[in-house]
Amino acid sequence: MAKSYDVVVIGAGNGGLVAGLTAALNGLKVLVVEQHNLPGGAASSFVRGRFEFEPAIHEMSRVGTKEEPGQLRSMMDALGINIDWVRVPEAYHLVVKSEGIDEEMPFGVKEFIEKMEYYHPGSAGKMQEFIALCIESLKAFGYLQGVRDKYDRAYLEENFPNFLQVATLTIDEVFEAVGLPEDVRINLSTYWSYLGLSTDKEDFMLFCPMLMGYLTNGAYVPPMRSHEVSAKMEKRIVDAGGEIWFNTLVEKIIMEDGHVAGVVTNRGEVRAKEVIANCSPHVVFGSMLDPKYVPEDEIRLANARHYDFSVSIVYLGLNKSMEELGIKDYTVFFQDYVDNAKAFDSLKKRDNNHNVVSTCLNAAVQGASPEGTCMIALTIGALEDSWSDIEPEDYVKVKNQFALQAIETFEDATGCKIQDAIEEFEMATPVTLSRYMYTPQGNIYGYLMYGWDGILSRGLTIEEDNNRVPGLKFAGAHGYMGMGFSSSYFSGNLIANMSIEAIKEGK
Ligand SMILES: Cc1cc2nc3c(=O)[nH]c(=O)nc-3n(C[C@H](O)[C@H](O)[C@H](O)COP(=O)(O)OP(=O)(O)OC[C@H]3O[C@@H](n4cnc5c(N)ncnc54)[C@H](O)[C@@H]3O)c2cc1C
Repeated sequence: MAKSYDVVVIGAGNGGLVAGLTAALNGLKVLVVEQHNLPGGAASSFVRGRFEFEPAIHEMSRVGTKEEPGQLRSMMDALGINIDWVRVPEAYHLVVKSEGIDEEMPFGVKEFIEKMEYYHPGSAGKMQEFIALCIESLKAFGYLQGVRDKYDRAYLEENFPNFLQVATLTIDEVFEAVGLPEDVRINLSTYWSYLGLSTDKEDFMLFCPMLMGYLTNGAYVPPMRSHEVSAKMEKRIVDAGGEIWFNTLVEKIIMEDGHVAGVVTNRGEVRAKEVIANCSPHVVFGSMLDPKYVPEDEIRLANARHYDFSVSIVYLGLNKSMEELGIKDYTVFFQDYVDNAKAFDSLKKRDNNHNVVSTCLNAAVQGASPEGTCMIALTIGALEDSWSDIEPEDYVKVKNQFALQAIETFEDATGCKIQDAIEEFEMATPVTLSRYMYTPQGNIYGYLMYGWDGILSRGLTIEEDNNRVPGLKFAGAHGYMGMGFSSSYFSGNLIANMSIEAIKEGK
């Protein structure tokens, strides 16, 4: 007879692990099903030779210090996941070689404004105005997250009048409204690639919490790679009485009397009151659910949405130290163009895609690799199936050429020659990520968050979006908060609480 659970979670990615853990800690009978042999999805680690690589994380937001914890540290502490988070040294370093731009920005609101003033004299006043707007918007966002669609318009008007003016604007429209100088806008836009969309299309309300999160709380990494967080969550789920089935693929969702009743895996059928999908809705509605149960609205949504971008990553284990190679920074954003809309479009092709983000873990985590060595990861965005045209026999050649292009971009922009120091080389492309994360086009960020599908609208329709198929909810990068580690963790927690409530109420 099929085993029976309160909650079955599809996928042990960031959102899935937090969802499973939250439900298990609340006494529910939980099963997390993961097609791989490891928890965490992108949050993992791998070893080549004497190097242990971080496959994904550049930096996590909203961690904060022990004394002044951010939302993520507080949530992890409450879940019993204790990590000795390590702070990343700087906010970002932007290099646009063609324009002679080379600007390095610190964390801390005051420090950030001062450094902007240093690079762009006369900008401090406008920056203060902009940050004040961000602070007000963030407070309003916090209020809306608490009340969701039950907000009081008069309260918003009284307390957050400026927020109401900018809530539906793009990042560029807000830059324009505040009157930020062009050179400041270029600097401030650096994080666009963390958001998925360029600043002419992306919601200000996605950018604002991220920027302010980094500036006020700094950015952190788990010292033992992101696998540390996943492994601790896996153990805690099991200790709390939950189960995780690895090497198991969920193939179908079972419906009975118009409500979710379980899943079919390649190891057999499992019964469940609630199913939390920590995976792509396109896959869920396209292949897991009998078409007669797929709601019209989900078909419309699927047709209107675009997959967010994927990435290629070149992992290098170098047989020289950072100092010997002249590497100074943890993160550098290399861009071909100051116009990030043009940079966004250039991700649709492999040729001449020089939009590289480099990270050197050793700059944050002491002893991350053996003495006299260091590790670099070069990440390059990819959009719209730009890796699907390669014949299998050409794949290795194309991959190697692309890696060389990224390495040369790094060497050219920094002057640090690293090719002769390469001891270990590994590379993942959108093809790899599609296979390992089971996402269409290998996307790592869910869906592009255009205004109509932005964080505010998703927040306001969260109940509706997670109730179209009774008993089926979505967590992770495809969920209501969108992409990234922190957002995926938060959505896992919130969605699990919605499932707990639904089970209590017998819905
Ligand atoms: C190279 C790289 C760098 C990144 N850098 C950052 C960064 O610096 N900061 C940041 O915030 N974010 C970053 N991200 C993005 C971040 O990793 C993702 O947004 C986040 O991990 C998404 O988490 P998720 O919960 O949606 O699950 P995912 O990590 O996508 O995991 C989903 C899991 O579900 C499993 N699964 C899917 N379908 C099924 C099925 N049918 N049956 C069983 N299992 C299934 C998959 O195997 C996978 O393990 C980066 C990602 C990559 C790849």
